[in-house]
Amino acid sequence: MKILMVSSEAVPWAKTGGLADMVSALSISLSKMGHDVRVVIPRYYNIDRDKLKLLPDAMGTPMGSGIQEWSAVYTTDMPGTASQAGEAKSNPVKVYFIDHEIFFGRNGIYGSPTETDFIDNSRRFSFFCRAAFQLCRKIKWYPDVLHAHDWPAAVAPVYLKFAERVPGAGGEFKKTVSILTIHNLGYQGIYHKDNFDYLGLGWDVFYNGGFEDWSMLNMLKAGLYSADKINTVSPNYANETMTQAHGFRLDGVLRYRNADYCGILNGIDTDVWNPSKDKLIPETYSFKNMDGKAKAKETLQKEFGLQVNPDVPIIGMVTRLTDQKGVGDLFGPTYGSAWSICRDFNVQMVLLGSGEYWCESEISGLASRLSNFKAKIGYSEKISHLIEAGSDFFLMPSSYEPCGLNQMYSLVYGTLPIVRATGGLVDTVENYNEKTGEGTGFMFDYLHPSSIYNTVGWAVWAWYNKRNDIEKMKMRGMKKDFTWETSAQKYIELYDATFKAQGISISKAGSADDAESVIVKPKKSAPKQSSSTAAKAKPADKPKTADKPKAAAKPKTADKPKAAAKPKTAGKPKTTAKPKTAAKKSTGKKK
Ligand code: ADP
Repeated sequence: MKILMVSSEAVPWAKTGGLADMVSALSISLSKMGHDVRVVIPRYYNIDRDKLKLLPDAMGTPMGSGIQEWSAVYTTDMPGTASQAGEAKSNPVKVYFIDHEIFFGRNGIYGSPTETDFIDNSRRFSFFCRAAFQLCRKIKWYPDVLHAHDWPAAVAPVYLKFAERVPGAGGEFKKTVSILTIHNLGYQGIYHKDNFDYLGLGWDVFYNGGFEDWSMLNMLKAGLYSADKINTVSPNYANETMTQAHGFRLDGVLRYRNADYCGILNGIDTDVWNPSKDKLIPETYSFKNMDGKAKAKETLQKEFGLQVNPDVPIIGMVTRLTDQKGVGDLFGPTYGSAWSICRDFNVQMVLLGSGEYWCESEISGLASRLSNFKAKIGYSEKISHLIEAGSDFFLMPSSYEPCGLNQMYSLVYGTLPIVRATGGLVDTVENYNEKTGEGTGFMFDYLHPSSIYNTVGWAVWAWYNKRNDIEKMKMRGMKKDFTWETSAQKYIELYDATFKAQGISISKAGSADDAESVIVKPKKSAPKQSSSTAAKAKPADKPKTADKPKAAAKPKTADKPKAAAKPKTAGKPKTTAKPKTAAKKSTGKKK
C-alpha cells in the first residue's frame, strides 16, 4: 500500500508536541510492515538544507486568483528506516520538504514569540496541502492513502475530494482515499474568510466542503466534512469529542460523521522509551531487576537539589505549561493545589516544562519557597527521561488529553500515573482499587484543586500504607504493551475499511486498482525524479487578513475526588487518615 503522510510536524525535524512523534513512529511501523510510506512536511527555517537532497526543478502549485506558487523540494530518508550496515532496518520512509521561502523561511512553525499565530497561516498551510499533490506529480508516485494530520493538513482531503477526485481533473488521484487524524480538537485553524479565495476552490466549496464557521474559515472543520474517514488518537477521546463538553463546537460535525469516525490509541517509541535500553538514564532496568530505578531516583534527587532519600515518594511532571494540562488548578495563584500538596504531604515534587509566562513565574516562585518542590523551566529530552525513571508517581491533571504519551512512558518505567479521567488517560490507566489491589494508577474525574490534592494524597497514603499494592501496580504497568505495531495494524484496518467504503480494491501489487483481491504488502521502488535545472523559489503574494485561533473548553462532568489523603509529617504514617475535602484556598504565596 502506498501511503502519504501530510503533516506540519515530524520528528526529528519539527516538533511542538505528540503529533510529530506520532507521524514518524506510525510511518516507520507501517514501513516495517512492508508498506511504501512517504511523509511531506514544510521546510522550516531551522531545517538545514545542507543535510537534505534537492530534487531537480522548481515545483509550481496553482492557488486561487491565478497565483502560481513556486517552491523547491528537498528529500531525505527518515532516520531509523534507512538500511545501515549490520542492522536490519525497514524500507526507507522518504520524507519530502516543501521549501517555500516566503511561507516557511521564518522562525517558528505556527507562530513566534512576537506573533503567536502567524497572520498568513491559512495561506501557508493551504498552499502546503495543495503542494502535496504537486509533489506526487513531480515524483510520479500516487498514494493509495492520503493521511492528513490536524488542521494544518486538513485541507488536503478537501482538495482531494473537490479538486483532484472529480471529473475533469488529472485522474491521478481517482483511487486515493483520505484519512484525517485529529491530534487535538482544540486547534482548528480558524481564519478570516477573505483568505478563502487564495485556496482556489469555488465558493460553493466554502459551504459544501464545510469551511464555513460563523462566517469564518475553519480549516479543520472542512477536513472533518471532506475526509473519507476521520479518527482521533484514543477511543475515549473519540467519544468525548462528540459531546458538547469536549467538542470545541465541532461535536455536531463529529456526531454527523459518527459512522466514519473512530479512535486509535497512539503507541510509544519503545526504542527510545524503554527502561531496559534507555541511554539517557544512569542505569537501565526492567521489572526483573529494579536497581536501576532506585539509582535513577537518587540521580533525580541530586539533579534537582532535593534531599537524597529513597523513602520519600517523588511526584514528577513533564509538561507544556498550558491550560490544557491542568496547570491552572495546580499552580494558579492563590488557589492552585501544588503549594498545599508540598506543604501537607511528605513528598518531593519535580517539574520540567515550559509555556505560559504566568505559570513559569508561579512555578519559579513556588520552588523558591518550598524545599520539596523543584522545577526546571525549559525543554530537555535527558531530564524528561530521568523524571520518568526516577519518580514514583507522575502527575497529569489534564483538562483534556487526546491521547497523552507521558502516562504510557510512566507505566512502562514503573512510575504510577496520577491522572484526571479524560481522553486517552482513561484508555491507558486503570484506577487503583483499594479492596482488590488492582489498577495501574490513581484517577479523579472533576478538575479542581481539591480533586488533585485529594488524589495525590490518596496515592501518597497508598505509598506509605499499601506498599505491596504499589509494587504490584508498578509491575502491571511495566508489562503493558504500548508498541506502535499494535496501533499501526489498526490504521491498516482503517485504511482497508476506507477502501471498502469507497468501493476501491487494492491489487496484489499493493496499489489501488480494479482487481478483486485486497492485500496489504508490497514494496515500491524509489520514485523516478524529473531531471534538469535546479529548483528555485519564487515569492508568493503577501497575505492579507488576520486570523483567529482556538478556544479552551472546560470539562463539565461531575467528579469524585478519591479517598484518604494522608497528611503531612515525615516518616511512615501507620493509619489511614481521612482526606481533607479541599485544598486550602490560600497557597500562602505573596508577590
Ligand atoms: P502534548 O502533545 O499535548 O504536549 P503528549 O503527552 O501527547 O502531550 O506529548 C508531549 C511530548 O512532549 C512527550 O513526549 C513529553 O515528554 C514531551 N515534552 C513536553 N514538554 C517537555 C519538556 N519541557 N522537555 C522535554 N520533553 C517534553
